[in-house]
Amino acid sequence: MPSFVGAIDNGTTSSRFLIFDENGNLVIGHQLEYRQIFSQSGWVEQDPMDILGSVISCIEGALRKFKLQGNDARNLKGIGITNQRETTVVWDRNTGKPLHNAIVWSDTRTQDIVKKLAGPDEGGADALRDICGLPITTYFSAVKLRWLLENSTEVKEAHDNGSLMFGTVDSWLIYNLTGGKEGGVHVTDVTNASRTMLMDIKTLQWSDRCLDFFGIKAEILPEIKPSSTLFGKMNHVELNEIKDVPIAGCLGDQHAALVGQHCFQAGEAKNTYGTGCFMVFNTGTEPIPSKNGLLTTVGYQFEGEPAVYALEGSIAVAGSAVKWLRDSMGVIKSAEDINGLAESVKDNGGVVFVTAFSGLFAPYWRPDVRGCILGISQHTTKGHLARATLEATCFQTRAILDAMNADSGKPLKLLRVDGGLSNSDICMQMQADILGIDVVRPQMRESTALGAATAAAIYLGIGIWEGGFKAFAERSRNSTESLQTFAPEVSEKARDDQYSLWQRAIEKCLSWDV
Ligand code: ADP
Repeated sequence: MPSFVGAIDNGTTSSRFLIFDENGNLVIGHQLEYRQIFSQSGWVEQDPMDILGSVISCIEGALRKFKLQGNDARNLKGIGITNQRETTVVWDRNTGKPLHNAIVWSDTRTQDIVKKLAGPDEGGADALRDICGLPITTYFSAVKLRWLLENSTEVKEAHDNGSLMFGTVDSWLIYNLTGGKEGGVHVTDVTNASRTMLMDIKTLQWSDRCLDFFGIKAEILPEIKPSSTLFGKMNHVELNEIKDVPIAGCLGDQHAALVGQHCFQAGEAKNTYGTGCFMVFNTGTEPIPSKNGLLTTVGYQFEGEPAVYALEGSIAVAGSAVKWLRDSMGVIKSAEDINGLAESVKDNGGVVFVTAFSGLFAPYWRPDVRGCILGISQHTTKGHLARATLEATCFQTRAILDAMNADSGKPLKLLRVDGGLSNSDICMQMQADILGIDVVRPQMRESTALGAATAAAIYLGIGIWEGGFKAFAERSRNSTESLQTFAPEVSEKARDDQYSLWQRAIEKCLSWDV
C-alpha cells in the first residue's frame, strides 16, 4: 500500500491542502482564497472561522480529487501544518468560539502601543531582544494581544477569568481539527512560538520576563512542542474520512520553506516571495544576535534534536504590490501580466518605487513611513512602473542580504527562492542582477507545504523520509531535483549604480513625514 502525507498551508490570502507521495512528489492539491477585512487604514483582519472553513474545504476538495485519481483516503498517513505567522487569534475555552477577528501580521494598528512599550524608559525597541531575538514592533503577536486586552472588554474579561485561549493560526487550526472544545489540544511549535515575542529562544519555553512586560498570563498560552512530533489526531465532524490521522508536523510558513528547500546546513538560505517576502538564513544550533536589523528566530526543531536557529529578513510588501497594481490601480488584469509589461521596457527609466504601504520592515523597521514613487517623467510608462514594482522587492532583498552577510560573517554564495512571485522569470533575473549571486529556483515551488509534509513524514518515518531527520538531511544534500539557475548578467558598476538609486530613494522616503 502506498503512503501519502498531507500539508495544510494557510497563507495570508489563501489556504491550500496538498498531498505528497512517499517520494515527496506533489500528487494533488486544492486551494481557496478567503476574506481579508480592511476596516480602517492600517488594519488587516481575518475571521478565524473563515480561516478554519477554508482549510476544511481545501482538505475536502483535495481528498475528492485524490480519490478520483483512484487513491484511497486511508493511505493518508499523516498531516503537517504550515501557516502565516504572528497573526493573532483569541478564543473562549468554554465555547471554542473566537472572541475577536484575527489580527493579521501586517496590521499596524499597534503603533501607539509600540511607541509606549519601546519608549526610552522601557529600554527602547530592543528591550527584549536578548530573550526573544526580536525588536518591539507592530509585527509580532504579543503586541497585537496587548492591543486586544486594552481594546476589547470581552478579551480582557476572558483573560482575567481564565477562559481566554490565545494562539497563532497553527494553534487555532490544531485545536479545532483535534476536537475543538470537545478535547481539542492547545499546542504550538517552536517556530511559531518564536514569533510571538513571548518565548525565550534559548530555553524554548515561555519567558516570565516577556509575559510580565506585556501583562499576559501564562495560562492562556499553548504548549510549545518541536516542529516534528505528535501534535494530536484529526477529529473533526466534517472530516470523518481522515479521523485519527496524526498531525505530526507544524512550522510557521517561512520556517517550513527553509525545510522544504532543504536548507539544513548552517550558511544556507532561502527567500520566499509571497504576499510579503522573507529571507531565512540557517545559522546552526546557536542563536546569533543581529547587529544589523535582522530577526533571530528558530529555524526548525525535529524531535530529539537540538533546535536549529536562523537569521531572518522580512519584507512587508512583495506580491501584494503586484496585487495593488491589479486591484487598486487597474494597471494589469492578472498578476502574471506584470511580467509582459516589465519586459516591454529595457530598464526602469529612472523610476524607483518604494512599496512601503504599511511601513518598512527589515532592516529599516519604520512602521510610520509610507510608500513613494520617484523619478517620474513624461517618458514614464506602465512598463517602467511594473519594473520598478518588481525591483522594489529585489532591492529590499539586497539590503537584507548585505545585513545577513555582515551579521554572519560568511557571504552567501547562492539564494534559493520560492513563493508565488518567484514564478516571474524577469523578477528572478532582476534579483540575480541586483544581488550579484546565483538565484536558484526549484521546479516544485510549493516549498512551504513540502516543508510541513517533511516535518510530519520524518516523525512518522514515511518513504524517503524514513530513518529520521539526519539521514534525510544527508540524502537531500545529494538530491538531483531539477533546479533553474538565474545567474547575474550585469556589470558590478551597473549593479552598484542601480542600488545607490534605491538607497537614495529610501532616504527620501524615511524623511517624508506623514
Ligand atoms: P501567500 O502564500 O503569501 O498567500 P503566494 O506565495 O501564493 O502568497 O504568492 C502570491 C503572490 O504572488 C500574489 O501576490 C501574486 O501577485 C504573486 N504572483 C503569483 N504568480 C505570479 C506571476 N506569475 N508573476 C508575478 N507575480 C505573481
